Amino acid sequence: MLSRVSSLMASIHCSKVTRQPLMLPNMRKNSFGKHLLYGLGTLVLRPIKLLRGGTQLLGVSHFCSISNIDSSLHIELVPCLRDNYAYLLHDLDTGTVGVIDPAEAFPVINVLTQRNQNLTYILNTHHHYDHTGGNMELKETYGAKVIGSRKDRDRIPGIDIALDDGDAWMFAGHQVLVMETPGHTKGHVSFYFPGCGAIFTGDTLFSLSCGKLFEGNPEQMLSSLQKIMSLPDNTNVYCGHEYTLSNSKFALSIEPKNEDLLKYAAEISQLRGKNLPTIPTTLKREKLCNPFLRTYSEEIRHSLNIPTTATDAEALGIIRQAKDNF
Ligand SMILES: [Zn+2]
Repeated sequence: MLSRVSSLMASIHCSKVTRQPLMLPNMRKNSFGKHLLYGLGTLVLRPIKLLRGGTQLLGVSHFCSISNIDSSLHIELVPCLRDNYAYLLHDLDTGTVGVIDPAEAFPVINVLTQRNQNLTYILNTHHHYDHTGGNMELKETYGAKVIGSRKDRDRIPGIDIALDDGDAWMFAGHQVLVMETPGHTKGHVSFYFPGCGAIFTGDTLFSLSCGKLFEGNPEQMLSSLQKIMSLPDNTNVYCGHEYTLSNSKFALSIEPKNEDLLKYAAEISQLRGKNLPTIPTTLKREKLCNPFLRTYSEEIRHSLNIPTTATDAEALGIIRQAKDNF
């Protein structure tokens, strides 16, 4: 039923990548500065519209001011299950549509039907059911190809295209860099769109938290988060869940004097009070506020009795444990 669905919309306009493929930090360290070339666009957040009817449609738009804009990619948040986000990608030039992490098929089909759109690709950050639950029905309905990590080729339903760390895959002319980001699961990947300054982090990096360590250890998660943090600060982060409000409570409990966090927590509270998404966040904001990216913080270490001699990975493990028990 349409009335059951709350559809949140965000769109990002960005340039189609026609330049040399980028290398990830662990592929060719010297080339990493090239990422900056793609991060120069200023992203401006401004609400477009708020419509209420049979469906609740909330509009948030991001405009990427990179010069030589010859095409655009829209990113649309589609709430699934209780607190998951799937993301619809729509290339305006070709009409190509993809979806990232469809937890269920219905809300995605609902939006596609309203727009009279087809679905060409399904991208999965990891194999968990709340990220792949819609794969098979969407594949059967639209004939879409499923893309995921080669490491999860036995666990991602319907996988057609298996990619490795550092692979550059093209979505309708937009370069997509595959970054292995294990820790939550062994095969977890994040999809980085350098031309749009956007990264889809699944359950690796949330706003104000990171994923639970189901199949990895603190060292792996730290390494994955550092890999993401090496991207430009203005990168927009699209994660798999709307957990930000509860994450903010934990973050404030261990770093109550962090003024950036206090300010962000107030914004989060306002947004969620209006049932608006807190996603996307930015890497800059996460570096200032997310305790899992702030293992060096004296206040956090003091709050959790983490010795000054503890490594960042040990600190991350203790913060994760505290969050699990919060
Ligand atoms: Zn997961």
